[in-house]
Amino acid sequence: MSILIPVGVSNRHMHLTREALDTLFGPGSELTVYRNLYQHGEFASEQFVEMVGPKGTIPKVRILGPLRTQMQVEVSRTDAYLLGIHPPVGIFDNLPQGETIVLNGPKGSLILTRDVMISRRHIHISPPEAEEIGVKDGDAVFVTPATIRGNPVESRICIMGNVLVRVKESFRMQLHIDTDEGNASGLVNGDQVYVVQSSLGRYDEMPGKKLITEGDVRQAILRKQKIRLKKGVIVTPAAADLGKERKVFIN
Ligand SMILES: [Zn+2]
Repeated sequence: MSILIPVGVSNRHMHLTREALDTLFGPGSELTVYRNLYQHGEFASEQFVEMVGPKGTIPKVRILGPLRTQMQVEVSRTDAYLLGIHPPVGIFDNLPQGETIVLNGPKGSLILTRDVMISRRHIHISPPEAEEIGVKDGDAVFVTPATIRGNPVESRICIMGNVLVRVKESFRMQLHIDTDEGNASGLVNGDQVYVVQSSLGRYDEMPGKKLITEGDVRQAILRKQKIRLKKGVIVTPAAADLGKERKVFIN
């Protein structure tokens, strides 16, 4: 069985800089912890701001802490329609420009002309876990729910593709999706998914192992990976038969 990845559904939220917090809440103000998030050191604060777009307003958008060096406002596509903006699906390093919204805090307002995005669904994962699953930082994979809750007939089970893999020592393994994606798929906080296959073909080789079992070969077939037979690698007879038959091995 593949590693099971817990799901975290993110509601609209924002990450602020020191300057932005000063503007919205007054100089020297601090975020206070409402609850700690699953990722180490991250927390949902007790502070909210109002978000105003050309077409609509969202009254209470939560600020996540701690403060960052770059603004990052994350909304769902549904939120974007309500606000009247069209932010692209972004990743963290390359935040989109061109959408204007206003943030209203208790002490001041801020006009943003960039840094608004719809988050690309992604997996946070540590290096050893990534190696176990056979994924690398920057990969895009398919995931699917490990279990179905409730009546299977009512299930909206789906396979999600183009899930970005983000590998970092400090990460706790978790799939991050937004409320639109959660609502569409029926996934809620604490559900589990697993990686079924690389989606963009960016990994095609299983990480090196000393012992290759039949289970490894089956995983490789499922993910359309090859297994490199380096010197000293032991392959069980069943794995050898299956691997040869399915042309999984490379030298
Ligand atoms: Zn995340």
